[in-house]
Amino acid sequence: MGSGSKMLGFIGVLGIMASSLAFVLFSEKEVITVGFVPPIFAAAPERVELLALKQDETLGELLEGVLDANDQYDFVIALRERANPRRLRPGTEVAFRWSTTTTSELRAVDVTVGADLTVRMTPSAAGWMSTTMTTPVVTDTVWVSGEIQTNLWDAVTGSENREGLDPGNLAEFFSDLNDIFQWQVDFSRDIRLGDFFRFSYERAVRPDGTMRRGHVLSAELVNRGRSYEAVWFDPNGDGSGTYYDENGNSVRLRFLKSPIQYERISSGFSNSRFHPVLQTWRAHRGVDYAANRGTPVRATGNGVVIEREMQSTYGNTIVVRHSNGWTTRYAHMNGFAPGIRVGSAVDQSDLIGYVGMTGLATGPHLHYEMRQYGTFKDPETIQLPPGDPVPVDQWAAWETQSRMRLSLLDRLPLPWDTRLAMNDLGEGEASDAGER
Ligand SMILES: [Zn+2]
Repeated sequence: MGSGSKMLGFIGVLGIMASSLAFVLFSEKEVITVGFVPPIFAAAPERVELLALKQDETLGELLEGVLDANDQYDFVIALRERANPRRLRPGTEVAFRWSTTTTSELRAVDVTVGADLTVRMTPSAAGWMSTTMTTPVVTDTVWVSGEIQTNLWDAVTGSENREGLDPGNLAEFFSDLNDIFQWQVDFSRDIRLGDFFRFSYERAVRPDGTMRRGHVLSAELVNRGRSYEAVWFDPNGDGSGTYYDENGNSVRLRFLKSPIQYERISSGFSNSRFHPVLQTWRAHRGVDYAANRGTPVRATGNGVVIEREMQSTYGNTIVVRHSNGWTTRYAHMNGFAPGIRVGSAVDQSDLIGYVGMTGLATGPHLHYEMRQYGTFKDPETIQLPPGDPVPVDQWAAWETQSRMRLSLLDRLPLPWDTRLAMNDLGEGEASDAGER
């Protein structure tokens, strides 16, 4: 997903282009998640005492003032069937529901264990009983389409807030589109008036009106008359999915073009250059990107951190090992991102550090190297290897899901001239958009 820093760069550039955008937004309620306890209008009156877990407080400690020691123990054991009491975060809400018809009888205790999940604990003769209650979240799919009439920046900030899609959300979605299509289209240079986009995404709406946005499920960008499509698919079903084109090829490359948003390349790849600090001729087998101190540095591909150390020449350095014999090096950094150590698994675009000028450097910049099986490659000219296509054993699931997700887009109109410019646009199958 888009990073804050990337977004800033993105908005900055878009601001230069000029806009107002025709915005169409549809929403359709799709699936209602169950677990909803119907209202009981004759419920006995109760008094609710709401406590929240403090920093470093255990659930047992929170229960201390309310339950006796044996009861606390039983409670924690019973809760463990539904949630790990040790994993409860500070701020977790625990609601004690007291009966007001009898003298302070505890009727139930609700422990909020997740965004939409509560465990209800009820005392009984046999001890504490636990049940889970899911907040009745409505998952729906939202479609957005628009044509770039003046500039994208106004599209982000000036569009009307409909269906809870505020400019902040929109900015995130444009950042998502940038992330999805960054290898096909350079959003800072290639976007033109008349370009058109449409995308669908999932969101979950809670009864109180708050919502969580999910993935962009499918997206299409028509840039200078050429259509680019991307469909979200998660081969392992563990949330680590990615985007593929309509033929099941990854729309992503194995590496980002660059690990940072840079201002300029201050020194390119060369087998011989005059070193500004060492005052000698030597090879420069990487690229120097000039950028402000503190600019976020991102892993260009999925891999494992194999070096993270301060070196005399390279300063604060990280080396990431990727599949197929690839390694990437990031040097002269000001510091490392929290949690990044030798052995850390990193995904493409994960923050690993910040631009600095540690080691031998005359100004803040990032020195970046790519090697395959030990051979240096020029990051500026190398043909970046493609990401993996949809795995063969997932092909059946892919075909079903991609057809469904692409058909979501066909619910949105295309501008007439765009329609004429595209020759391969089939009539969308009218299928139910039901996901899940
Ligand atoms: Zn360098």
